[in-house]
Amino acid sequence: METLYLVIPCYNEELVLDETSHRLQVKMGQLIDQKKITKDSKVVFVNDGSKDKTWEKIVKLHEENSLFAGINLSRNRGHQNALLAGLMTVKEDADMVISMDADLQDDIDVIDQFVAEYYNGNDVVYGVRSSRKQDTFFKRNSALAFYRLMEKMGVQVVYNHADYRLLSKRALQALSEFKEVNLFLRGMVPLIGFSSTTVSYERKERFAGESKYPLKKMLAFAFDGITSFSIKPIRFFLFLGIFIFFCSICMLIYALVSYFRGNAIWGWTSVITSIWALGGLQLFAIGVIGEYIGKVYMESKGRPRYIIETYLK
Ligand code: UDP
Ligand code: MG
Repeated sequence: METLYLVIPCYNEELVLDETSHRLQVKMGQLIDQKKITKDSKVVFVNDGSKDKTWEKIVKLHEENSLFAGINLSRNRGHQNALLAGLMTVKEDADMVISMDADLQDDIDVIDQFVAEYYNGNDVVYGVRSSRKQDTFFKRNSALAFYRLMEKMGVQVVYNHADYRLLSKRALQALSEFKEVNLFLRGMVPLIGFSSTTVSYERKERFAGESKYPLKKMLAFAFDGITSFSIKPIRFFLFLGIFIFFCSICMLIYALVSYFRGNAIWGWTSVITSIWALGGLQLFAIGVIGEYIGKVYMESKGRPRYIIETYLK
């Protein structure tokens, strides 16, 4: 039997905590009774600098029942940072960790399957939404556009998977080697490797409170996702520069032909060719510089170059 920890970031979730803790207590109790997880298993709430009574509630839950633990962050750091803080804090004590949201939009009955897949030898189990019926038209389509764009940019993400997933102890250990500060966990986890699988579920509506992900945060998150994983936007300008420089050569030929045929007024030829040639050359140069900045950027992340799966000795 192994120990399971649930890690739940909470930001202004006082309205949902009672219900959430109740349902999770029942769920964890069942798993413990069925001898699927040990009695040391815990539910860890990470308070992400909430402005309401979230932390007071967590403290109370912890005092009443040792199943519940709490981590209090010094200030609001955002969902991804709060989640990582939770994962890194519990990684020594847990054999497997499941991350989920406080609003229980993700079906908690899938936890059984997560645990079963873990015992089947998977280090990473991704929760994947089977449909987006509950979403608004806007959220559904913006999400679809987001996944397409990520794919075009060469970022490997699991389609329709958010942050509902199980990670084994060694997957967490590997994740701790990623030193980057711009966190986009659903892009980082596939880079870990190890054997993984997916489990699908229906995502429900939030039962209380409102979404802490307004459009502004969603866009910032998508932008982070692309710029933290891809240098394609920089490379685009390199190719644009090369293309325009090529155009400038055509323009030069055109300008010279016009000049010799007497179709051009004085000075036009030199002005027009220099505008094109310089513009193209500038973009090209920026692109080259960008390539190096891209390299520096990737290096400055200090990501592990490899992760050892087995060690035979
Ligand atoms: N959250 C957080 N810090 C933030 C924003 C959100 O810890 O700055 C938590 C929030 O409490 C919830 C989870 O992240 O547990 C997902 O947020 P939410 O349910 O509002 O997002 P949505 O489901 O609407 O995308
Ligand atoms: Mg939610």
